[in-house]
Amino acid sequence: MASDIDIARAASMKPITEIGARLDIPEEALLPYGRTKAKISADFLKNLNGRRDGKLILVTAINPTPAGEGKTTTTVGLGDGLNRIGRNAMICLREPSLGPCFGMKGGAAGGGYAQVVPMEDINLHFTGDFHAITSAHNLLAALIENHIYWGNELSIDQRRVTWRRVVDMNDRALRSVVCSLGGVANGFPRESGFDITVASEIMAILCLATDLEDLQQRLGNIIVAYCRDRSAVTARDLEADGAMTVLLKEALQPNLVQTLENNPAFIHGGPFANIAHGCNSVTATATALKLADFVVTEAGFGADLGAEKFFDIKCRKAGLHPDAAVIVATVRALKMNGGVGKDSLGSENVKAVTKGCANLGRHIENVKQFGVPAVVAINHFTADTEAEIQAVKDYCAELGVEAILATHWADGSAGTEALATRVAELAESGIAQFAPLYDDTMPLFEKIETIARRIYRANEVLADKSVRDQLRRWEADGFGHLPVCMAKTQYSFSTDPQLRGAPIGHSVPVREVRLAAGAGFIVAVCGDIMTMPGLPRVPAANHIGLDDKGQIEGLF
Ligand code: ADP
Ligand code: MG
Repeated sequence: MASDIDIARAASMKPITEIGARLDIPEEALLPYGRTKAKISADFLKNLNGRRDGKLILVTAINPTPAGEGKTTTTVGLGDGLNRIGRNAMICLREPSLGPCFGMKGGAAGGGYAQVVPMEDINLHFTGDFHAITSAHNLLAALIENHIYWGNELSIDQRRVTWRRVVDMNDRALRSVVCSLGGVANGFPRESGFDITVASEIMAILCLATDLEDLQQRLGNIIVAYCRDRSAVTARDLEADGAMTVLLKEALQPNLVQTLENNPAFIHGGPFANIAHGCNSVTATATALKLADFVVTEAGFGADLGAEKFFDIKCRKAGLHPDAAVIVATVRALKMNGGVGKDSLGSENVKAVTKGCANLGRHIENVKQFGVPAVVAINHFTADTEAEIQAVKDYCAELGVEAILATHWADGSAGTEALATRVAELAESGIAQFAPLYDDTMPLFEKIETIARRIYRANEVLADKSVRDQLRRWEADGFGHLPVCMAKTQYSFSTDPQLRGAPIGHSVPVREVRLAAGAGFIVAVCGDIMTMPGLPRVPAANHIGLDDKGQIEGLF
């Protein structure tokens, strides 16, 4: 089969005004970036409030293999499938980060015949949202340094500045830096460092903000440093929130593009799925729900992280009520969960598939705990055998859940008709009774325990006194109502990436907790979390270039 970029390039894209017209978006509400991308104007968004919402469908997955399980590909394929069976559907996805495009191969705009286009633009600068976030983040960093330089009226403890800098590039050399070297005129030397832009708290804020006012409020709440008496210094204390909002004004408006089959898609915001919640923006999802009868959206990583955060953070905070969930499984990932090594995935192994289904089964149970009905999509790979596929179907049938084979990667929407029909039926049945896993009022440590016990099936949460004391201090300071954002490996229900399948009785060690006061969650760090990736020995960048027609080569 042709490569993703070849398929994307052969797409016959419609002008973005035509895609907008299908959603009844008037031309003056579209802010075009070229011919095939547009932002939706904030004024138009305001006027949608009275309309009724469409059905919200979450695409999530089993614990993945390192390559990913095709959640994005399936989100696109299902959106196209719903349109194919005559439903008015749109999709909402995250924006990819620029950095990883030059590292390992693999885009974030779907794959095969289920992609969003223009894929090169989407994967690279797109509409500049990430640059705006980078600028707003680094403006705040500059204002902190400047405040200290001109006398430090707020008495910021220079050893306790927590706000780092960001850049949208994989660059391990910037993980730890010393700034203000070079003499008196350059300030006070201290250690700092860079994270990749998608790890910025501002990315999470942009994705949870409901409008410009809410955005500014959240930006003002960001804690950037502490004083000697441990009191917090916020972006508002530095009078930074106004200018940051100005830089993010355009970025808050969702980006409209299309699928290969000319169906509408919002691609907006892309927070990390470990230290943040890993979903596209609330503005995109909420807007799509006003414009379409069905909205299909994706959450990052497996359902233990992605779906849990989608439900407990995004839906809770934005008042969204998901109507159905699709759990993506692949035969090869089930095999890996059943104990097969990466090199042996190519040969048939029904026994390992059945064994690995324990992982799928637990995700099914977990999604049901939120009151959301689920269906399993088997994302078909060419090496899958009939017997392996049947094994997955049989396993799911025993749990009373339908598993439907989907061949959208090879066939586009023709490969998801059955899936789309079933999903529409489930979403319209009204059986969803969504509720988050825990109440706002539950103490913070108990929230962590609830997730660890009920979603990961751990026996206990381990944390030092310092971690528990910190959580109690935040409760005393008025942050006890916040949800918890778990940062752990995506490869296992446990905190050990090697422990695949459906482990029980493990312990979840919480090494550190962080307060994202602007985004509005507490991060519980359970393991090594990388917020600035590096490039591999042979980065994809080495093979990317322009051909003699001026087209990009070597990108996926
Ligand atoms: P996720 O969103 O779960 O990370 P993606 O949808 O981005 O996964 O897919 C990851 C990679 O796998 C992409 O490069 C995509 O083209 C590829 N892929 C997805 N589904 C299939 C399939 N059925 N057959 C072959 N490759 C696939
Ligand atoms: Mg994805």
